[in-house]
Parts: sequence; C-alpha cells; structure tokens
Amino acid sequence: MTGPVPKDGILDIAPYVGGDATAEDGSKAIKLSANESPLGPSPHAVAAFTRAAEDLHRYPDGGADRLREALGRAAGLAPERIVCGNGSDEIIGLLIRAYAGPGDEVLYSRHGFLMYKLGAMAAGAIPVTAPEENYTASVDALLAAVGERTRMVFLANPNNPTGTYLPAAEVARLHAGLPDDVLLVIDSAYAEYVGRNDYSAGIELVDGARNVVMTRTFSKIHGLAALRLGWAYCPAEVAAIYHRVRPPFNVNAAAQAAGIAAIEDLAHVDAASRHNEVWLPWLGDQLGALGLDVVPSVGNFVAVEFDESGARTADAALAFLQRRAILPRNIAAYGLPNHVRITVGLEDENRAVVDAVAEFLAADND
Ligand SMILES: *Cc1c(COP(=O)(O)O)cnc(C)c1O
Repeated sequence: MTGPVPKDGILDIAPYVGGDATAEDGSKAIKLSANESPLGPSPHAVAAFTRAAEDLHRYPDGGADRLREALGRAAGLAPERIVCGNGSDEIIGLLIRAYAGPGDEVLYSRHGFLMYKLGAMAAGAIPVTAPEENYTASVDALLAAVGERTRMVFLANPNNPTGTYLPAAEVARLHAGLPDDVLLVIDSAYAEYVGRNDYSAGIELVDGARNVVMTRTFSKIHGLAALRLGWAYCPAEVAAIYHRVRPPFNVNAAAQAAGIAAIEDLAHVDAASRHNEVWLPWLGDQLGALGLDVVPSVGNFVAVEFDESGARTADAALAFLQRRAILPRNIAAYGLPNHVRITVGLEDENRAVVDAVAEFLAADND
C-alpha cells in the first residue's frame, strides 16, 4: 500500500512545539513560556480589532498599504520597501523558500531561533549551524561556516532563547564578510526592548546594501501575538521577490487595523519597555542570587542553567514549576537541555517564579 509521499526531508522535520499555556489541571497558569508582553496589547489596538468585526465579509487589503504607511511614518522608512506577513515566521519561511532550495545551505548560530532550521528543512535546504561563544553568536564562526552553497544567513539580534546580542559594529562586520549573493536576515523581534548604545535593529545595514533584510514582529512588545503580524524592511528587489511568493491576502484585516493602532500608541510601547527595564534585571539578579547561572539577556526573558544531572536538572525544575501552575519554556530543542527560559511577567508573576525556583532548589529532591 502506498499513499502520497512528501518531498525528501519533510519527514525529518520535528514540528515546532509552542510554550506551555495551561496548567496540568487545566486551570489558569502563570504563562512565562512565549515571551509575550505581560502588559498585553494597547487598548487602541483592541478597539481597532473590535471595529474590524464590522467588515468581516470583506477581503483584507492585500498590500497592507495603510499598515505599511504607518510603519514607514513611525520608523522613517519608505513604505515600498516594507513587507508584511502572517507573523514574522511567515516572512522567514517565505524568504527561505524564495532564496534556498535543495542542496543550498541556510546558516545561523548554534542556539539560534528554531524557525530558521524549520524553514530551511521545509524548503529542502540544508540547515547549518556555527558555534557560539558564551551563548552569543560569533561573527568569526559564522563567516568561517560560509561556503559555496550558503544562500542565507540568519541572525536573531537579540537572539531567542539566549537573550544575547551582537553590537551594530559586529553585525556590520558579519555583513562585510559575506559574499554579495548571500542574503543576511537580521531578525530584530526584540529590538524595542534593547536599551544599549551599541545596538542597532539593522535599518542602516539594509539601507546600505542589496543583500540585507530586517524582520520585526507585533507579537512581542506590541502584545499582539494572537493576530500573527510581522513585517520586514528590505531592499526593493527583495520586496519584489517576497510579493511573488506570499499568499495574496496573507495579513488579515483585523491584524492590519490593530497593528496600525498599536504603532501609534507610543505610550503603551513605552510602558512595556519601562516595565521590562525594571523586571528583567530583577529576575536575573534574583535567580543569580539563588546560585543559578543566568545568560545575560537584553530581551524580555532570561535563560537560566540548571544541573546536568541529579535532582536539580532543567526537566526537574520545569516539572516542579508546572505543578505550581508556573510555565516557563523548555529549550532543549535549541540545544540547551539544561536551561529553562523564563519570560518577564507582571510583578506578582516574577515574584512567584523566583519563589518557586527557590523552593525547588531548597527542596530535598535527592
Ligand atoms: C517571537 C519571535 C519571532 C516572532 O515571530 P512571529 O511569527 O512574528 O510571532 C521572530 N523571531 C524571533 C527570534 C522570536 O523570538
């Protein structure tokens, strides 16, 4: 008996597993597993979403024109060079499909965001990783891994799940070392959270080259993960390629309306950023004071290391927290089986997770 058979390599893909969302008993949990904004979306975005319900029988604007104009105004960018997607995941996947195929290599760093690997495999391309240093992408290692078959290089900056980042000068050095025909995609999903003088989301690199794209998302600081909305700033040629491969109505009307309202609510973004400035260092300090190694993060989450064996492993910590309805993220799929990723939550959630981790470490688990 034979049935339809997928293309080579498709059966090798391990499907993406999202962060836990419900407690074991189904009750409401403290969800710190998906780097969502604890402040939620802007009330203006919610109002725009609700208004969009009046026109559910209409197709969305396939070009997302008003949204691209709003993004262009806010960031000082030409709207023609902005493209939108059903989450930045869609943009990442479609760019890989357009630029890489069987035999081609897609390069990223060892603990880089999982979508690069999944996107490469779905396109039949070969995912290739370069070693990191101190859980941080290494420009030298990435450049050393570039070969004849390399078509794309992905850099999440800052990276998820580590939270580490490369300064703008290092990203520029990475770009300078790449052949002109290799596309560098800078995934700046957490850019709004980064308060470092030497950081850049990558706009100036896109402006100065034909082979750099910057991707952004509404899922993180804007608190609109459920709507699936992302965008990219691209060279004109890359934008034109993207429009050839994307579905014609890939961004729904409610997402477009809410996205415009979200961009314009600067006070809400500012509040989310200030909340993170207080609670990211607090979370890192408290977990560090418990004797845990915390990877230095500039995102809205921290990766914390547990023991490799014995009673205090990451798996044991996850199970312990799960029993208390606190849900951080297992990041074994990122090559970090001994780490747990914890998203910055509301004050009481942050206090609850630190207290629970302290209890876990103090418990006689042996
Ligand atoms: C969360 C995240 C995204 C966002 O994906 P969406 O599809 O826009 O929700 C992209 N890149 C990284 C590194 C992320 O962590």
